[in-house]
Amino acid sequence: MPVSGLSPYDDANVFARILRGEIPNRTVYEDEWVLAFHDISPQAPTHVLVIPKGKYVSFADFSAKASDAEIAGFTRAVGKVAQALGLEEPGYRLIANMGEHSGQEVPHFHMHIVGGRPLGRMVPLA
Ligand code: AMP
Repeated sequence: MPVSGLSPYDDANVFARILRGEIPNRTVYEDEWVLAFHDISPQAPTHVLVIPKGKYVSFADFSAKASDAEIAGFTRAVGKVAQALGLEEPGYRLIANMGEHSGQEVPHFHMHIVGGRPLGRMVPLA
């Protein structure tokens, strides 16, 4: 079910539970700002999620309220993870779903890193 990207933060969301260690994940990278792990339902040969450790519901929330250090730490980590996954040379796609029209399902901001094959159109034809 798509969620609003503007709701108050829900501590029971699945990524909050992953950050607390209550649900297992396949970690690919972690630092003081982010956790990156394999998507449980990959849409391409490589599909990794990068999430900030701070409590942000969506990109709208993160971009408005995160500190400059959090935003820089997050952005640099996304680039570092994509590079470590070997995706720079063939290329990759970043996706951040925000709110109902995007189909955002988990109300903790996350960036999808998707690659490993040609990815086709940026947005499917309706
Ligand atoms: P979004 O639609 O942008 O909110 O994407 C949420 C993503 O989280 C989907 O691609 C799911 O497959 C993924 N996901 C949901 N639960 C888990 C989990 N426990 N571990 C890893 N990925 C998950």
